[in-house]
Amino acid sequence: MTIRALIVEDEQDLVALLRLHLEREGFEVHEALDGPAALEIARRVDLDVVVLDWMLPKLGGMEVLRELRSFSDAYVVMLTARTEEVDRVVGLSTGADDYLTKPFSPAELVARVRAMLRRPRGGLASAGSVTSEGTPLRFGGLSVDTVRREVRVGEKEVDLTALEFDLLVTLAASPGAVFSRDRLLEKVWGGDYFGSDHVIDVHIANLRKKIEADPSNPRYVQTIRGVGYRFRPA
Ligand code: CA
Repeated sequence: MTIRALIVEDEQDLVALLRLHLEREGFEVHEALDGPAALEIARRVDLDVVVLDWMLPKLGGMEVLRELRSFSDAYVVMLTARTEEVDRVVGLSTGADDYLTKPFSPAELVARVRAMLRRPRGGLASAGSVTSEGTPLRFGGLSVDTVRREVRVGEKEVDLTALEFDLLVTLAASPGAVFSRDRLLEKVWGGDYFGSDHVIDVHIANLRKKIEADPSNPRYVQTIRGVGYRFRPA
């Protein structure tokens, strides 16, 4: 299966370098030098990965990503030049899957892309397909039955709110994958949530009190500082 990648960047030398490395991996590589061109290609080609620069002529990387997310599930790696941009990538509802701060090595980009492609797309749909076979998700002493919506720690059933349950299932369905707060809002609240994304932190704290032996040193739901949360792989 050919992996289709789109590089969106106006620095032509960088485009050429990234193209070289991605083609060496066997990817089919498309390129766009500005935002509108990127969206045009994304509508035409079924992309797997988009490498998207933050600073672009005509339409910024963030606007491109917002638009892209309305019709595409491609993985997105955002390229940023400054730390303030990183804060905005993870803080705003951009839906980027990963980011790299310039300068970075093309090998690092390839490694990140490979890692993204290996992990299943997160979310409730994939969790549902796991348990449609009737097998609860199990992680050490924690078991999550998405058919019955039951969670157990050891033998003890834990009473979670609907939001806590959905947060847990979203995270646990993709162990190791980091979810930004916005991504969680999108998955659990359905993307039409407006307000502070720190509402997530409140629900995560409550969830931890119920499933973690030591909520201040969580075994399952970990904080990734400055980014969001992830479910620790076994
Ligand atoms: Ca640029």
